[in-house]
Amino acid sequence: MSKKLASVKPSGSLSVQISARGVARLKAGHVWVYRSDVTPAEDVLPGAVVGVTDSRGKYLGTALYSSSSQIAIRMIARDPVANFPALLADRIRAAVRYRERVVANSNAYRVVFSEADFLPGLIVDRYHDVVSVQILTQAMDAEPVRAALIATIIEELHPAGIVERVDARIRDLEQLPPRKSGLLWGEKTATVVAMNVPEVRLHYDAMEGQKTGSFLDQRENYAAAAQYAHGEALDVFCYQGGFALHLAAKCSTVTGVDSSRPALEMADKNAALNQREVEWIEANAFDLLKDYDSAKRRYDTIVLDPPAFAKTRHDLDKAMRGYKELNLRALKMLRPGGVLVTCSCSFHVSAPDFTEIVAAAARDAHRPTRILESRSQAKDHPVLLSMPETSYLKCIIFTVN
Ligand code: SAH
Repeated sequence: MSKKLASVKPSGSLSVQISARGVARLKAGHVWVYRSDVTPAEDVLPGAVVGVTDSRGKYLGTALYSSSSQIAIRMIARDPVANFPALLADRIRAAVRYRERVVANSNAYRVVFSEADFLPGLIVDRYHDVVSVQILTQAMDAEPVRAALIATIIEELHPAGIVERVDARIRDLEQLPPRKSGLLWGEKTATVVAMNVPEVRLHYDAMEGQKTGSFLDQRENYAAAAQYAHGEALDVFCYQGGFALHLAAKCSTVTGVDSSRPALEMADKNAALNQREVEWIEANAFDLLKDYDSAKRRYDTIVLDPPAFAKTRHDLDKAMRGYKELNLRALKMLRPGGVLVTCSCSFHVSAPDFTEIVAAAARDAHRPTRILESRSQAKDHPVLLSMPETSYLKCIIFTVN
């Protein structure tokens, strides 16, 4: 179902009132207000740029409004915003400058990370000369906003192609008309990126793959893992081989495991591109670890990077059991002096909770285990302190006696 979208009007002309609970959230620094705390004026259109007031009419700032999402309000400024597309262009330029400070040795990185770059509902990833964008809210989907987005990307990043990756489920939730993934500008949709020292090159195809930015958030962790990796290595949930190919520079053998055949086909192309030997196995990781453990296979380095087991808080118990099982098996399979690189990208599993899961697994395995590094997402995925949701990736590197 599609509704008329707001043309981008100055925020002064439209307003929404929020409840005391909504005001308290904003005072705490969060930028979201939920639907139950919002009373829009009658004429507020989907995706409008609105002024926000408390119940007595006191002005609180400017927000992007969604008529359908549970997150009705996403704050963008403390002051009125006369021209949102111009503000968006400024913020994209600031985001590019920020990456110039924090990204080294990579031509692939996240350029805009939604709320963490003060652009709620927008993700922009750069893969060398291909830029991939995701538009996640009504306000970001407005034509003048899209036009400013494309013009600013061209001006700042000089790509050969800009591709939009569409999440049909999100468009549906936002009551936006369906759209197909595809080129927004230029002609290139696939490329090769290069990252880290020694350099690892990876194919990127914007029209394939499981999500945009799949391997970008782990980029610094690949390098950190390679620093400690040695001997025989196993990369579990290897996807297109990000960890495996970095380990291959340091290890005598590397095996990558994933349940997705297309991911492994790309991983194999990536191995050829880097002239590195890796054995790829298509399997369910839980079954494979169980079989290998029973068969007493042993490794010196194991990477565990499963998909988010806890997508919502309701999955938490099951997720914890999943993480525990994987880590227990891996710890048992490591030789003394072995290295475990274990990750979780579930926001709902906190860093202390995740560390405790591995601690419990280490107790059960009777393996004294020490933390070499407790890491998070790469710096091009900044964490906004007032918004815990922007911090989601855990990557802990252990050494196991
Ligand atoms: N380490 C990768 C990212 C992993 S994403 C990187 O750095 O790029 C998680 C991966 O787990 C996906 O490739 C998905 O295909 C795979 N996967 C999901 N469930 C699985 C299972 N039960 N067994 C094996 N692989 C699985």
